[in-house]
Amino acid sequence: MISRDHKSRIAVIGAGISGLSAAYFIRKKARLSGKRVQVDVIEKEAHVGGKFTSRREGGFLVEGGPNGFLDSKPWTMDLVRDLGMGDALLPSDEAAARRFIYSRGKLHELKASPVSFFKSNLLSLPGRLRIVGELFAPATPPGKDTTLAEFARRRLGEEVLERMLDPMVSGIFAGDPERMSLRACFPRIAELEETHGGLIRALMRIAAERKKAKKSGQEVVASSGPSGPGGVLTSFKEGVSTLTDRLASEFSGHVHTGNGVSSVVRDSNGWIVRTSSQEFAVDAVVLAVPADSAAGILAEAARQSARAINQIPYSPMAVVGLGYDIGDLGEPPHGFGYLIPSVERRKILGALWTSSIFPNYRSPDDRVLIRVMIGGARDHTTPFLDDAELVETARTELSTTMGLHAQPVFTTIFRWEKAIPLYTVGHLERLKSAEDALPRGLVLAGNAFRGVGINDCVRESEAAAEKALGMLR
Ligand SMILES: Cc1cc2nc3c(=O)[nH]c(=O)nc-3n(C[C@H](O)[C@H](O)[C@H](O)COP(=O)(O)OP(=O)(O)OC[C@H]3O[C@@H](n4cnc5c(N)ncnc54)[C@H](O)[C@@H]3O)c2cc1C
Repeated sequence: MISRDHKSRIAVIGAGISGLSAAYFIRKKARLSGKRVQVDVIEKEAHVGGKFTSRREGGFLVEGGPNGFLDSKPWTMDLVRDLGMGDALLPSDEAAARRFIYSRGKLHELKASPVSFFKSNLLSLPGRLRIVGELFAPATPPGKDTTLAEFARRRLGEEVLERMLDPMVSGIFAGDPERMSLRACFPRIAELEETHGGLIRALMRIAAERKKAKKSGQEVVASSGPSGPGGVLTSFKEGVSTLTDRLASEFSGHVHTGNGVSSVVRDSNGWIVRTSSQEFAVDAVVLAVPADSAAGILAEAARQSARAINQIPYSPMAVVGLGYDIGDLGEPPHGFGYLIPSVERRKILGALWTSSIFPNYRSPDDRVLIRVMIGGARDHTTPFLDDAELVETARTELSTTMGLHAQPVFTTIFRWEKAIPLYTVGHLERLKSAEDALPRGLVLAGNAFRGVGINDCVRESEAAAEKALGMLR
């Protein structure tokens, strides 16, 4: 048992980006406020990083999880700069601004400007005209947690839902818009509707404000549009694991890998965190693990919270990395990649053209790397096919959807049984009841609650660090 001395102690459970950044913020904020706090990070796996898995193999660098983060939000960038890691960053190539949707047998480029978007034939003419009807669409009843599908159907029409929102939700959550909550997944859109009475009105007002700000010399941050999120996708030259490895190195001797936490129990001085081989006596605990793990750990100490958290479902995913000889491809793919609407009934969610997003850093010069995403909320079978079947599925689907018939010279596979949490209708209420019922000294962090992007995880970890420090006596 690791026991108490005159320092305060905080345990962080889970060494993904959420847990490691929470540990970092706890230590930083404690130092700034003159508190003596020891932080221990406890991780089930033998390695740190969670979904951050940068694999070097056969001359390729393949990400099993995230590709990078957007620089238009401050949280990850600030953390990277604070760590002095600016030189390790790798912004994506300009080509990455070109995003596509596979629809009705071909790839359609998503156009950023409203005029070009209206000219593109991703949507039929009635589908495009229906968007204008958004100006007259009935509002979401106040306080109602509506699904993404219901919202899109009512405001923008069935075709926008099928051909644009559905693949976008696949790209972010590998999710199903018929089940997912607007307020939990896209709070900003819910807020825009509420404040401005509609999306077109909101966009027009924001565009006018940006124009005014630009005129008066203020810096204007890139905004999202129909072609994708604003900002530059940014990674690290050596892959995203650079960040989690670096954070872990800040806590050497206090990162306990291969140590799955089974429970936290209260004792007279604080909390005991139990693993199969160790016990940690601490004053506060930050849980930065997936929802089902958090529910298991809290089963004794916070039954009501555990029950609420346990209702958060996950989508499974497989990521198949395929490497090709450049000479075997007529034209190497140029752009970010593409997503596929579920109405197309393909066996993949989409593909990312990694060598085009990060040229020179992910594949040898004479080779090309593509990552194929498989699974999601509606497909719990394909990600678990055996390796050969999975590669064959990816290959066949690339042939149909992007006309890539060449044989890969390299393949690698990652499988995530619980890849991404799904914020279904009622998510925010469940989260509130879980947090309200948590005993003092326990704090929730991680991607299961308020955003799945890396930026969201880092932002929430900073808030969790603040909360945990505030609980110290
Ligand atoms: C395929 C894929 C692609 C993605 N692409 C992007 C992207 O491009 N950009 C982006 O912003 N986001 C992306 N995301 C989302 C983002 O990667 C995740 O939301 C984020 O990495 C989650 O971090 P986390 O620390 O909250 O959770 P995790 O990374 O899941 O970490 C949780 C940690 O807790 C550990 N753990 C579990 N149970 C226990 C226990 N009982 N005791 C101790 N430890 C335990 C786990 O082993 C794990 O290390 C992607 C996700 C996936 C799966």
